[in-house]
Amino acid sequence: MELKGKKVLVVGLGKSGLAAALFLRRQGAQVTVSDIRSAAVLGKDIPALLEEGIMVEAGGHGLLTFRRQDLIVVSPGVPLDTPELAQVRALGLTIIGEVELAARFLKGRSLAITGSNGKTTTTSLCGEILAAGGLKTAVGGNIGLPVIALVDGSTEEGWSVLEISSFQLETTDSFRPNISVILNITPDHLDRHGSFENYVAAKERIFAQQTPEDALVLNADDEASAKTAVHAGASGHGPAIYWFSRKRVVRQGAFVHDGTLFFRSSENAAQEAILRVDEIPLKGGHNIENVLAAVCAARLAGVDASAIRVAVKGFKAVAHRLEFVAEIDGVAYYNDSKATNVDATIKALEAFPGGIHLILGGKDKGSDYRVLRPLLHERVKAVYTIGAAAEKIQAHIEGAAPIVSAGTLAVAVAKAAETAKAGELVLLAPACSSFDQFENYEQRGQAFKELVKALRG
Ligand code: ADP
Repeated sequence: MELKGKKVLVVGLGKSGLAAALFLRRQGAQVTVSDIRSAAVLGKDIPALLEEGIMVEAGGHGLLTFRRQDLIVVSPGVPLDTPELAQVRALGLTIIGEVELAARFLKGRSLAITGSNGKTTTTSLCGEILAAGGLKTAVGGNIGLPVIALVDGSTEEGWSVLEISSFQLETTDSFRPNISVILNITPDHLDRHGSFENYVAAKERIFAQQTPEDALVLNADDEASAKTAVHAGASGHGPAIYWFSRKRVVRQGAFVHDGTLFFRSSENAAQEAILRVDEIPLKGGHNIENVLAAVCAARLAGVDASAIRVAVKGFKAVAHRLEFVAEIDGVAYYNDSKATNVDATIKALEAFPGGIHLILGGKDKGSDYRVLRPLLHERVKAVYTIGAAAEKIQAHIEGAAPIVSAGTLAVAVAKAAETAKAGELVLLAPACSSFDQFENYEQRGQAFKELVKALRG
């Protein structure tokens, strides 16, 4: 891809937009950045961009700015039906995402991970396993560094381990990972994708360019993934499919049998023991799935069983993912602020047998909370609702568990602490995004941790 002298617009000045703009400039493109946020909000990034000779349009998008370009690079946070994008698309202008741009320049091999839940956990785990196996490894994407920021350091013999969201996949076309993983597909972000079908279609772009030399790792326990396998095999020259399962022995891939994780490279190959389930240092059955996926991907990348075992045993839960915060007066507090959709909340509830005081709510994403009812009934002492989604949640779960309408996180923590008895636990697994009351899920999780620590006083 020749960028020298090309007019390129980067839409959205987040972390990846910023990295893309700087990369494009270094490649000799004439770069403009456009963001609907005001210059005051964008703040400190603007002088740095101007200094590099990058033009900045802040506080809105100008249609003329969009029409004048040879290429548009859109950030994952910007909806593709934004009117200016829709108009220039109709004119035939090429619109790609930062991941697609990076894919055209990235050297070496790549392992890309997507899914509704577990991406960050599995991506960091894969990064650690590959590094433990002696492979030159860089981790990025939706986690840490944007993919474009990995380009300069990439080499032919190295591996890029990439967390890729559905929004990032929407704007790829030639992206072709050597190994791709779809952890699970459950409803999420339906407000943005419009329908479950669109969301699935975005996820499936991860293997769209893969060929039989490449591998696709799928979850045999996940209903939607069976269809995905059919789609992947439909062309006759799609990737080799490997499965992982917590529940049954698979033909080729990774599985649990008699309390041990095994890998099998093909139907006729012998199964290889990797580690015991009780050696996994993470809480919850869903994390066994993440480890299985990582084991499968890492074996396919050529890492041996002993290096995998060492890396998994030494792995620590990523912050805000079922993170243990403290025990106060016999009550345990867990921060799962990253449970921003209903399925993640289900997984969090499944990790504890009962006695749960659950904090639910935030900004609704078009979710159906009724599916929580059986687990609420079975395991939850009380639900404390917070944020903008509280009323909808209340309507969906009424009768399944006692509901305390708390409004804010501070009130929820105070009330839960007051009510919970020794041996029970307080769990923040809100099933919603945080943007109604917080900047992001990290800030929400941090606030929770501070509120819990303050209870000590
Ligand atoms: P992602 O990057 O896909 O959001 P994370 O690893 O950050 O995934 O975890 C997000 C949330 O989902 C957390 O609440 C975590 O406990 C939960 N989770 C992690 N792995 C899984 C899984 N395999 N299935 C369902 N929920 C999961």
